[in-house]
Amino acid sequence: MFVRQFNRYFLHKLPHSGDCLALKSLLSASVTEGNVVVVQQPNGGEPLQFPSVWLRDNCQCSACFHANTKSRQANWKRASVESRIRSINGGAEKDVLTIDWQDNHKSTFRLDWLQDRDFAPTNRKRYIEEVYKPTYQLWGKSEFSNVLRSFEFKDVMQQEEVLLAWLESLAIQGFSRIKNSPHDLTVARQLADRIGYIKRTTYGEEFEVKSKDNARNYAYLMTPLPLHTDMPYYEYKAGINILHCYVQSQSQGGSNLMTDGFYIAEKLRKEFPKLFEILVKTPVDWYDIGKDGGMSFHNIWRAPTICTKRDSHFTVPLEQVAPWYEAYDKFIELAYAEAVNFKTNPGDVFVFNNLRMLHGRTAYEDSPTNKRHLIGAYVDWDIIYSKIRIIRAKYSTKC
Ligand SMILES: [Zn+2]
Repeated sequence: MFVRQFNRYFLHKLPHSGDCLALKSLLSASVTEGNVVVVQQPNGGEPLQFPSVWLRDNCQCSACFHANTKSRQANWKRASVESRIRSINGGAEKDVLTIDWQDNHKSTFRLDWLQDRDFAPTNRKRYIEEVYKPTYQLWGKSEFSNVLRSFEFKDVMQQEEVLLAWLESLAIQGFSRIKNSPHDLTVARQLADRIGYIKRTTYGEEFEVKSKDNARNYAYLMTPLPLHTDMPYYEYKAGINILHCYVQSQSQGGSNLMTDGFYIAEKLRKEFPKLFEILVKTPVDWYDIGKDGGMSFHNIWRAPTICTKRDSHFTVPLEQVAPWYEAYDKFIELAYAEAVNFKTNPGDVFVFNNLRMLHGRTAYEDSPTNKRHLIGAYVDWDIIYSKIRIIRAKYSTKC
């Protein structure tokens, strides 16, 4: 309360200027009774606020901070939380705040550094949305045409702004379509390399989705492929799935199905809270046992996640099984009710968030002259978000 009144008092006195180059006066600062440092900005913006213990912990001097590695010096024995400010000086140097601590340490902080880390709710929100991760836009079937984003392969490969827009669409809408890619087996790899690098799994780096004799994975059959996410049996699941349509089936089927799983989970939470609770709390045994590329594997991951490839091992108490099926059936019913259906053409690349989108395929039939053939590759979200941040920072106009 004290801080709020303090701010209001100063706000009246400060001139307002939207121009961040017009830094006419020096910054000033003071400390509240609650040990919060309040910095008045020279250009008259909202006062910035920082707990003094946080400033002490984030001292930028060379003894406390290693500038080259952008890291705190590796010493966990930081100054006591009780370390008080002896004096604070905002006017010694232009746009620099100087603090003398009672333990005879001295810290200096640049105004732009402080502005970027201000604890005000608006600034924390800005950081989370603009720097950390863009906010998801959940969508149902009726909104599909509004959330569909299409990009030209050539533009994604050649223009950094288009690459950024593509990655943002994956982060926000959860999927997108890339058109007019060349008739080339390396398209999925080229796109993964454009972001960073491919995630290797038990199915190799690139994987081919086509009907195979003696198929060792359900996706390699011509039967309908129910809605699912890939690799629920991995602790570190694939972030996005890049599916390049190399040859499409000329038969009736072979369409993609897709539902926003987060939208369905949210719908379930609102409309059937008890069922939602069961799906959140009941751990499920996901598994994959097989052989690919000469390597045998036996993956198990135990987690309360919605998926369709469950082990027949179900390691929960007996009485939890039937309620889980009831909740699961409702989730699947909602997921199919909201699923969109579309068929990709050769040269299309369907890319989606594998942790969010449930995807599937209708049945199809190969003929001797027409064999459906997709090539897929995975990329992890850590790599994608990093790329988004790097490109955004490059084009940032923040001053
Ligand atoms: Zn220091």
